[in-house]
Amino acid sequence: MFQYCKKCVMPNTKPDLFFDEGGVCDACRSAELKDTIDWTAREKEFLELVDAHRGKNGANYDCVIPVSGGKDSHYQAYIARKYGLNPLLVNFEATKRNALGQKNLENIRQFGDLLEFKKNPSVYKKMCLEGFRRVGDHEWPNHLGIFTIPIRVAVQFGIPLVIWGENSQLEYGGPKAARMKGVLDRRWLEEFGGLLGLRVEDMIGVSGIMREDLVSYFYPTDRELEEVGLKGIFLGYYFKWDAREQVELMKQYGFSVKEDGPVEGTYTNYENLDDSLVSIHDYLKYVKFGFCRATDHACLDIRNARMTRGEAIELVKKYDGRLYRHVVEDFVKFFEITKEEFFRIVDSFTNKALFLTDENGRVIRDGEGDLIKRYQDYN
Ligand SMILES: [Zn+2]
Repeated sequence: MFQYCKKCVMPNTKPDLFFDEGGVCDACRSAELKDTIDWTAREKEFLELVDAHRGKNGANYDCVIPVSGGKDSHYQAYIARKYGLNPLLVNFEATKRNALGQKNLENIRQFGDLLEFKKNPSVYKKMCLEGFRRVGDHEWPNHLGIFTIPIRVAVQFGIPLVIWGENSQLEYGGPKAARMKGVLDRRWLEEFGGLLGLRVEDMIGVSGIMREDLVSYFYPTDRELEEVGLKGIFLGYYFKWDAREQVELMKQYGFSVKEDGPVEGTYTNYENLDDSLVSIHDYLKYVKFGFCRATDHACLDIRNARMTRGEAIELVKKYDGRLYRHVVEDFVKFFEITKEEFFRIVDSFTNKALFLTDENGRVIRDGEGDLIKRYQDYN
């Protein structure tokens, strides 16, 4: 049965999200838990960890920080510096990086050296298209790259500590076991990294892709990881995560938000700033599950007591699930596919139980070209 959480606006179609008898979602319960955590004790834990990794006397970096250049990466790098770590920042190039993304990536270098991984665009685009066609997510190789390449760098540089940002399972809800865990390892990646069951091996042979084209997309072996003693931690385990507070702080360090209005698909202007095609990724999530980024943001704002549920519902109705025609134009041009194919694929991933269809089972779009939800009622 379709339902929305009674406290936030998240539907139960979200994968791995569970509702209790009171109709309240895991993520809302996790948010309550966050208030019961002794954050001072957690900071002490972090200090102990830092002490064990700090002070290579210039012989090596103290940690690897995977960065997109966004608010979270800024905060991760800032915290590393604040606690005396010398980080190596590692970036996996966005699918179609825009000017604001480039500016923020340059800005983050104030916190340390930046290693930028620029992929072979032809191989990458083939993987994007395969991800789009097979699992309805053109960002598939990006999810893979941002999780594997920093780990490979850590292994090859012999740096045992990798500092990730929030634990998405804690912030957005997820299976209880993963909730309070402070560690990101291969298993976490396979389960929660957004890979949708597709493996890097599956790319061999796709449009002529060879094993050797995929070197950096393979996760290091257990043996390699053990040799370095690699540990990947979530900063969100040690510090109470609050995106809006972090954005304000990072602005003082030159982080730029989108000044001319919200990011496409939501009402905020501080997240997913770096890629001009990202709203298509969000849209695919919408057709599959009936919600996307505006819902994610509104839920966080509700849980952080910055918004009422009523206000959230209005914002979600206004921003969630919009398909931006100019982005579709960019998308089909960038990936060299036809608009017919684009919509055929989008429609094939559209959940017919959530959206209205005609008598032939084809999805119906309104005058604006948007899908029509079967369930509008948030109560
Ligand atoms: Zn909830």
